[in-house]
Amino acid sequence: MAVGLATVTAALQGQAETRFALVPYPQSLTAQEGTFKTAKPAEEVWKVETDGQLPAEGYRLRITPDGVTCAANDKAGAFYAAQTLAQLRSGKAGAFTYPCVEITDAPKYKWRGVLIDDCRHFFGKEKVKRVMDLMAQHKLNRLHWHLTDDQGWRLDIPGYPELARHSSVRAASGKHGTRPHVRMKDYSALLNGETYGPFFYTEADMKEMIAYAAARHITIVPEIELPGHVYAALSAYPELACFPERLKGKGPLCAWGIEQDVLCVGNDKAIKFMEDVLDYVCRLFPGDTVHIGGDECPQVRWKTCPKCQARIKANGLKDEHDLQPWLTRHFLKFLDARGKRAVGWDEYLLGDVPKNAIGMSWRAGGGGAGHKFLTPLECVKRGHDLVMTPRTHCYLDYGQGLADDPFQYIGGRVTLEKCYSFDPCEGIPVELRGHIFGGQGNNWAEYTWNEYDLDWKMWPRTCALAEALWTAPSRRDFPNFLKRMETHRKRLIAAGVNCAPLR
Ligand SMILES: [Zn+2]
Repeated sequence: MAVGLATVTAALQGQAETRFALVPYPQSLTAQEGTFKTAKPAEEVWKVETDGQLPAEGYRLRITPDGVTCAANDKAGAFYAAQTLAQLRSGKAGAFTYPCVEITDAPKYKWRGVLIDDCRHFFGKEKVKRVMDLMAQHKLNRLHWHLTDDQGWRLDIPGYPELARHSSVRAASGKHGTRPHVRMKDYSALLNGETYGPFFYTEADMKEMIAYAAARHITIVPEIELPGHVYAALSAYPELACFPERLKGKGPLCAWGIEQDVLCVGNDKAIKFMEDVLDYVCRLFPGDTVHIGGDECPQVRWKTCPKCQARIKANGLKDEHDLQPWLTRHFLKFLDARGKRAVGWDEYLLGDVPKNAIGMSWRAGGGGAGHKFLTPLECVKRGHDLVMTPRTHCYLDYGQGLADDPFQYIGGRVTLEKCYSFDPCEGIPVELRGHIFGGQGNNWAEYTWNEYDLDWKMWPRTCALAEALWTAPSRRDFPNFLKRMETHRKRLIAAGVNCAPLR
């Protein structure tokens, strides 16, 4: 049944906020009189049918006093229908009640992600599983897993035992409330002196996590950073850096910021190392994309490194600005041969980079080791697909502007309303919007130590981002969202989530 805009608006502004406190809000909802009562959860007694007319991940749900029917075109659609049912349910086992309603729903964007940074602070299997549970409840489907960085390497790689043994341990971390930074002359007084690690995932761990994700219709996007943000690996294998003597006797960094010792792009051994890592990652992770970082890579070492300069000469490159695109082209081909598409932070699209490179646009105007900034419009005009994650809307390590907030942030400000206003297609003409895959919330963890502050920073802002990625703009309304969130926040808290206040 088609639902007119007036009906929708009336439903949105009427009792629907509380009676149907759904997050993200569905594309079409028609309230009906009555309730369905059942001893078992509705998704255990419902009737499911296939409807080839429904879009991918979409579903239709009809609740009447007599029962529940669900139609979907794929398993993900039925899974999301069950998530909607869980939010509609009241009562307890043996006596559940559902309001009668008809819902037709499908996502606005296909990439609805969450980034977890396990390098700056390590969360581990159980906490990441809990993140996935919450993602699924909000119909989020991509776990971008930041597994390698200057401060830690979190994946055991066959043939490189020092990554798990050496690169997963750092000598100390910043004390709470301090901001040790790699550019400081001496930040030792800011460190807590506590060994952090070893923290890493084995192959068996990862297989367990991949299966857990698949059961929730979540695709893991593993990220292996290159050519910058590799200090943890270089400290185990100094010969992969431009000036190995700078790394001898070192471990993963204990301070934050942009490190200047990066992969030696002129060294064939360094290329082979990354090939071996990525080959393993391609075989381990079943998803269609692998993230190869590419952000915040200073070129200062390349300028004076004989091997890097020789690489420039041998390949007819202009200067060190051309080295990263050269490396990106190499790994795009490498991943392509293994059936994967590369994703990278927007800096990696600078220079001569083929169209099949997917960009992750984060800089929202610039910053990040002084690289030029390509606007999202420039990226899509060049033919790149994009995942939007502008720090102005999607960086959940930025302050949320609460009156009372006990946690530390990296800086900046992204309020709940700002998250809610996220529009991945902003500034992109209609004919190019097919390049916009969606977006994600990024939980960088320099100042996030455990699940309590991770929860606080993620929720409720991830609810707002989930709705921005799932629900059509015409169906979105911030005051209405806030009303629904009054109920939904209680749900999260009842489930043990350390959810921050709405304002
Ligand atoms: Zn070099």
